[in-house]
Amino acid sequence: KVRVRFAPSPTGPLHLGGVRTALYDYLFAKNQGGEFILRIEDTDTARYVEGAEEYIEEALEWCGIIPDESPKKGGKFAPYRQSERRDIYDRYTEQILKTDYAYIAFDTPEELDAIRAEFEAKGDVFSYDNKTRNRLRNSIALTEEEVQKLLDEKTPYVVRFKMPVDRTLNLEDIIRGISSVNTNTLDDKVLVKNDGMPTYHFANIIDDHEMEISHVIRGEEWLPSLGLHTLLYEAMGWEAPQFAHLSLILKPDAASLINKENIDSITKSFTEDFILKNNAYSFEGASVLIKSFFADIKSPRFKSSLNENEKDDTLTASVKQFLKKSLSGKLSKRDGDKFGFPVFPLDFKDPATGIISKGYRENGYLPDAFINMVALLGWSPADDKEILTLEEMCKEFDLHKVHKAGARFSKEKSEWFNHQYIQLKSNEELLQILKHADLDLSAVSDEKLVKIIGLMKERASFPKDIYENGKFFFEAPLSYDEKASKKAWNDETSSILGELAENLNTIEFTSETVKQFIHDFAENKGLGMGKVMMPLRLSLVGELKGPDVPDIMELIGKEESISRINNAIN
Ligand code: GLU
Repeated sequence: KVRVRFAPSPTGPLHLGGVRTALYDYLFAKNQGGEFILRIEDTDTARYVEGAEEYIEEALEWCGIIPDESPKKGGKFAPYRQSERRDIYDRYTEQILKTDYAYIAFDTPEELDAIRAEFEAKGDVFSYDNKTRNRLRNSIALTEEEVQKLLDEKTPYVVRFKMPVDRTLNLEDIIRGISSVNTNTLDDKVLVKNDGMPTYHFANIIDDHEMEISHVIRGEEWLPSLGLHTLLYEAMGWEAPQFAHLSLILKPDAASLINKENIDSITKSFTEDFILKNNAYSFEGASVLIKSFFADIKSPRFKSSLNENEKDDTLTASVKQFLKKSLSGKLSKRDGDKFGFPVFPLDFKDPATGIISKGYRENGYLPDAFINMVALLGWSPADDKEILTLEEMCKEFDLHKVHKAGARFSKEKSEWFNHQYIQLKSNEELLQILKHADLDLSAVSDEKLVKIIGLMKERASFPKDIYENGKFFFEAPLSYDEKASKKAWNDETSSILGELAENLNTIEFTSETVKQFIHDFAENKGLGMGKVMMPLRLSLVGELKGPDVPDIMELIGKEESISRINNAIN
């Protein structure tokens, strides 16, 4: 039976990388007719963030990634919160201590600091491993009596893994194939802390075993732990699950970030960061310099100048260094705030600083568009189809087709997906979304709103675009675009429109009849359609944009249309 878990630690909100892991866990489980489990790994109390667990649950729910078993929902293997599973871990701690794979260590943090310093003084790096463990205070180096005495005195201790000496492990990963690691490069990790709580590594493999997890699909950052985890399964005498490690999500292409829209905010944030680290420079000075780099960033010269080793003054050199670091590598939680796009599914308010980071939901993204975008960060379905529902993704998902290389995030692509999904929604569905969006729609009936949505959605990337680009449906223009006025208006326009308005009074008011009427009116006067349509549009909208004029007129109605024309000509 396929059982896959998503096992976040409640140390903050989920960002794109976490959502993608959860999604792939879910897609794989569902594709295989299996189960998807949410387990909260909260043994590290120092990193615990209040509210993070609720955030994670709410975010997954918004995405439509619904667990079969979870702390909230319960299940056969409850509890699903590690902090509530202490008795289970205690049992297995006892078990592993009876094997040759673990030992008790009494070293205090001060003792470890001292030996670390001793190594550093010689230019070496200290590692608690088979080369050093005999010199330290643990049950391997001490006699049985000494150990017992320390235990009787209630000396605090940790349990460490005893890394075997010089063994080559061949580690199998569904996405990456086989990689080899020699155990001499690994250290004796702590399995149980001195408060009796297991560390991530130990709790994780115990729970994966206990919860009968068949496949572990997680971020690449856990690949270095795979050797230890494999040996832990061996130590416990358990069969290990299969593993798949997902590559990183990379920052957007630097050049695509440097556009007019956000160059100021990026400069500001970079400059602040920069000033912080190099307090010798004034904000203005650094800002000018950083801006000049942005101007250059789109040209190939920028890339080469980052690598050049020419004789730069320190300021130039460190700006280059800073930009190079900021614009490459893994997409981080801070990048959204820095570059002006969301990286969290929902808004997140940092409990420590009170700063709110932007979420997709609050920025008007539709959950199905978001999930579709996330799914394709590192996976492509067989025929390179781009628009897929969650159900279709479940059907098509294939771990073997997940890319080994990192996927580059793109803000434009996120917006493109949202635009596509808006087109797929019915006007009634979009109406419900707009109604929940904190906009004042009271001036217009639902029936008309549905029609407005039909006219405006084609050009909308976000539901609120429908309202913002269609403001003229809700209120008369407050001013007229100057350039458009010059183009659309001449000395005769007022009298032509005046006559038109008068005659409009007499007709039935549908888009069809209005269209026919304007057509006949222009023909009678010997005027081109444009001569009438353009100033008419300007009177109604205030600009020369928007859907067809007769459609606009039908929706705002006879009285309002005539009143707007009269306003414009007087
Ligand atoms: N608790 C770990 C995390 O926060 C889980 C890693 C794993 O899936 O094994 O990412």
